[in-house]
Amino acid sequence: MKVRLYPTAEQKQLLAKQFGCARFWWNRSLGLQYKTRSTQGRWLKRTELNAMLPQLKKELPWLKTDCYSQVLQATSKHLEQALKNWFEGRAKKPRFKAKSNRQSISFPQNVLVISNHRSAFPSVLKRRGVAAQIKVPKVGLIDAKFTKEIEGIIKTVTISVTPSGKYYASIGLDLGDKEVKQSTDGAITGIDLGLKDYVTYHNGTDSYSVKHPKWLKRHERNLRYQQKQLSRRKKGSSRRNKARLLVARVHEKLSNARQDCLGARSLASFADAGSHRFLHKLSRKITALSQVVVVENLNIKGMVKNRKLSKAIAQSGWGMFLNFLDYKLKHKGGVLVEIDRFFPSSKLCSNCGHKYQELELSEREWTCSACMKKHSRDENAAKNIRVEGMRILGLGHSPRGDDVRLGTCSEQLSVKRVPTESLS
Ligand SMILES: [Zn+2]
Repeated sequence: MKVRLYPTAEQKQLLAKQFGCARFWWNRSLGLQYKTRSTQGRWLKRTELNAMLPQLKKELPWLKTDCYSQVLQATSKHLEQALKNWFEGRAKKPRFKAKSNRQSISFPQNVLVISNHRSAFPSVLKRRGVAAQIKVPKVGLIDAKFTKEIEGIIKTVTISVTPSGKYYASIGLDLGDKEVKQSTDGAITGIDLGLKDYVTYHNGTDSYSVKHPKWLKRHERNLRYQQKQLSRRKKGSSRRNKARLLVARVHEKLSNARQDCLGARSLASFADAGSHRFLHKLSRKITALSQVVVVENLNIKGMVKNRKLSKAIAQSGWGMFLNFLDYKLKHKGGVLVEIDRFFPSSKLCSNCGHKYQELELSEREWTCSACMKKHSRDENAAKNIRVEGMRILGLGHSPRGDDVRLGTCSEQLSVKRVPTESLS
């Protein structure tokens, strides 16, 4: 759970000191690690690193006065994990941290207190979500904005500041053993992801389509312009610093616009091409309407290599969309089914099953030569995808896509997710 923080100027300074100490300790211990590796052929254990801290604090008193001690220990732990991820091929080699990057510090369990005093807050905080305060060691009570209630037990809390100067707290929560049992008993939706419409979905009786969010292009143009400006500025100059901030802000806007979970509620507003709050809303809406969602397993990496399509696909963030769908469905006990991407979803007639082998990408509409049914390309694909998903789940279906009575699937279904890294 991520919440926005609104520290005062004074609190920002206190946080900056802790960021500085954590960064110092990270760089110091990373240096020690590489040195030990080259001289002794081994890595230092986390306990060995932590054992150096008391002596170091005597030499550098600010390390003790400016920073909560457990922040440094959490930093050692992160470093250990980062090195481990590197050995095991999950991540890149850990790097030394610079002041200009995103800064973060972690507090272990039991240090965070959240108090909810709505009335004490200015209206800007109350406009959306719940205003509250969180108590941070060595800093005090910081204003925060929650968009939902905290469920479960608070584990670690990570406080970060983006290069553009926004503060966040990521709160790790232990939700206990509340595992939701998956069931396929309910409405089934088939989804076709497309380049003309973002998604077209069919629920057995009706089809809906949602247009591409065109605003992405606008942000992208802006980003390109700001990056050009940045490259022209002299290193270390204050104008360059300003330009860097602007670039960071555009990046943030892009990622916020893709993920934004607040805003309008009706389906009609999704279809609005100017909608800024898109993927969360769309996946939430579809999840609310369905127990099972069937999608095509897109080989996104392969498709991005195709230059003509790459931009539109990378922009539209399908991988992220499918991930949102996946976890939202899991949360309610639903199922996401991915079907083989070689399944000819567009070419089959959803009415009679005839295969129209010669279908071109440019043909948005076609008429089945066997049953004379007129098809809209994406709607027909969504219908076929839905029926194919039902076949995979072993649920009965009629070729017309009429709703059928479905049994409960007791087995845990394994659903593979498309990695999103290649898209972001
Ligand atoms: Zn037909």
